[in-house]
Order: sequence, then C-alpha cells, then structure tokens
Amino acid sequence: MIRTRKPIVVMKFGGTSVGDVSRIKHVAEIVRDYQSENPETGILVVVSAMAGETNKLVSLAKGCVDNPDPRELDVLLASGEQVTIALLAMRLLDLGIPAKSLLAQQARIATSSEHTNALIEGVDALRLREVMRDGTIPVVAGFQGVDERGDITTLGRGGSDITAVAIAAALEASACFIYTDVPGVFSTDPRMVPRARLLDRISHEEMLEMASLGAKVLHTRSVYFAMRYQIPLVVLSTFAGPLRPGVNGTWIVPEEELMEKPVVTGITHRLDEARITINGMSPDIQKISKLFGVLADQGVFIDMISQEKGDGASVNVSITVPDENSLLALETVRGMVPELAGAGATIDRDIAKVSVVGIGMRYHTGVAARLFHALSRERIDVRMINTSEIKISVLVQRKYCEAAVRAIHEEFAEFEIKTVEEIQASA
Ligand code: ASP
Ligand code: MG
Repeated sequence: MIRTRKPIVVMKFGGTSVGDVSRIKHVAEIVRDYQSENPETGILVVVSAMAGETNKLVSLAKGCVDNPDPRELDVLLASGEQVTIALLAMRLLDLGIPAKSLLAQQARIATSSEHTNALIEGVDALRLREVMRDGTIPVVAGFQGVDERGDITTLGRGGSDITAVAIAAALEASACFIYTDVPGVFSTDPRMVPRARLLDRISHEEMLEMASLGAKVLHTRSVYFAMRYQIPLVVLSTFAGPLRPGVNGTWIVPEEELMEKPVVTGITHRLDEARITINGMSPDIQKISKLFGVLADQGVFIDMISQEKGDGASVNVSITVPDENSLLALETVRGMVPELAGAGATIDRDIAKVSVVGIGMRYHTGVAARLFHALSRERIDVRMINTSEIKISVLVQRKYCEAAVRAIHEEFAEFEIKTVEEIQASA
C-alpha cells in the first residue's frame, strides 16, 4: 500500500513537564519548534495533569469519605488533565499555532467500565484526523476515557502514557515522543551506579522487561501497546535540550530495527516483593497443583517459584508475590497447610530482586556464568532465580541490593558496549 497521508507524531508531556505556567510555556515552544522544523508532519499532543495534582485530588476524596465511590472518583481525578489541556492549547493559540483541547469524550477514547483502572478499547482515529486536517494540533487529555454508558473513566495512575501510545497506534503515527523529567532509559539506576549509561536504542521487548522489573520511566501497559502495534517510542527530557544520542533520548523500537543487539542492555531492581515459603509440604503434584489453583483464584500475582527438598520426603515451596498481595497470599497459604500436609508457612520481606536484561541473550551464552561470578566475588548469596529468553533475575537479601546491582553492572560494563556481532567477530 502506498501511503499518501502525511506522517503524524504524538508528543506526550508528563506532570513535571507541565508542572507550572512557565513550564507549560516551555512545552508550547517545544511543540512550535518541532512544527517549524517538520512542517510536513501532523502533531498531536497528550498531556498529564500538573505534577502533584492527581495526588491532591486523591487526598481530597479521601478527606471527604473513607471509601470514595469509584465512578465519582474518576469524575474528580479526570479534572487534573482538563486544566493542562486548556492551558497548553491557549498558549499555542497565543503563539499563532492552531490548537484545540480535547477531553476523552471529544477525542472518543473508549474504555471498559472498570473505574480507576479502565482499559482502552478504541480511539476514533477518523475524528482525530478530522480535527488535524487543517493543521490544527489536538491537545488531548491523558489518563481519561469514556465507557459505553458515557461515564468518565481513568486508566490507572501513570496512565497518560497509555493514552499517548493508544492514540499513536490508532493514527499509525511514525513515533510517539514521551517527554518527561529524565533523559531516557539508563543501563541501571543512575542514583545507585554513577557509571550508568543513557541507552540510545533498545527493543520494545527489553523495555517491557525493564519496566516490569523496576525501571520506572514508562507505564508497562503503554510499552506493551507500542510493541503490539510496532510504534517507535522516544523517552526524553523536556529540560535537557534536543534529542542527542547519549545526552537526551532513548529510542524504543521493534527488534528488527535494532542494528546492534547488545547481550546485556540493563540491570534493574525491585524492592516491592515478598517471599512466602510453605515448609515440609507433600511433594504430591496434585497438592502442588491445588496450591497454585487456589492462589490464582484469589487473584495473587506470582512472580518467582522454587521448590527445594525439605525434611524426609517433603519439599519446601517458595513463591514471590507483590507486597500488596503478600498478606492475602500468606493467609491463603496458611489456611491450606493441613490440606497440603505441610508444616507451616513463613513470609520474608527482606528481599530484593535484581535482574539483567538483554535481547542478545537469545544468541549468546555465558550471561548466567558472568552474573554469578560477579555475585560470588562480592559474596552475595542468591535465594531464588528466574529466567526468560532475555532476562535473568536473582533474589538477594535486601541489604545487598545495591552491591549486587553495582557488581553486575561493572561485570557487564564492557559487554554493554559490545554487540553480539562484535563479540563473535573478536572471538
Ligand atoms: N495524572 C495521572 C497520574 O498522576 C496520569 C499521569 O500522570 O500519567 O497518575
Ligand atoms: Mg508518568
């Protein structure tokens, strides 16, 4: 198919980028400059509420009642973005740039009815293109949607990333720029490891792993959308000048567009999981199946699983679960101890999960060996392990988290720069 339509980009600005009036003016200038440098490109802007505003709205509601009605809470929470779309649109108009603010119901962002956690079901691309036809820049409220009854919904905290990517997918945009307060995605947490590098390009799949393993720059679901619809994302700082490799901006692209495939791209950590162990349980597979069945029915998300030999013929089964699920999981498991012929269940919160992610692991061996080598040098014991094709996660005692991240980053520092091709060429 020959594309005759002009290319479109979506530019999303987060809460700190529109945190006050002077910042909103700065954002208007970024949009203006992009437009004058790319006159053939259609622009659509998505914004969050001003930094801190959504939190304020949540506390207003909590001050009013203990348990706010979800439908009413959404009416309240969605108001934060209504402020910023209007301010940015009026500033753009003042600069002589045609712009129009749009709420979710005007942009027709259709969602499910799960208030405060709704899923986007569709975006009316025709309507948005119609607004854009004469060069008008739509300034769309992030984070909000409308359900089939016409009620206002919200997408969950941090959800304006999802709005931006969903619109980019619907408009078949050539890129979705996510402007934030950090220059992009780093090889590891720069507050922990000063030598952390700003990554220039990574694949969607790596970003998806990194986002769910603790790199907090993007909402995980927005990355999933971008991967599914093959939309290139660019994460960049509103305050760090133009896009420049190694200085500002990380491109997140389909794997096929990644010319270089580093073996290790990033090292992440998470502190918000707990480990639950059922001791001395029967090794009978039907009992184990029952255990996981009941946890699933309770809606407990399980991350890592391990099974070790216990006393006699028994086994000890450990799982890790998100903190917010851990008491429910513990109660559930404790209630099942007699049925599982187990001796008891314990919980351990003194843990950290450290993970190594890299698309090149698919094509290269030795990552686990180097990872354990780095940990053994620091005498850090590993309590659980979890792997996928492109990541290895280890569970360590919480006090060793930082040391583990540093040691692993150091170990792979030279690997990170090299690509699979380079390593093979030098072998
Ligand atoms: N304003 C919403 C929040 O604070 C959505 C967002 O910023 O992405 O969660
Ligand atoms: Mg955000």
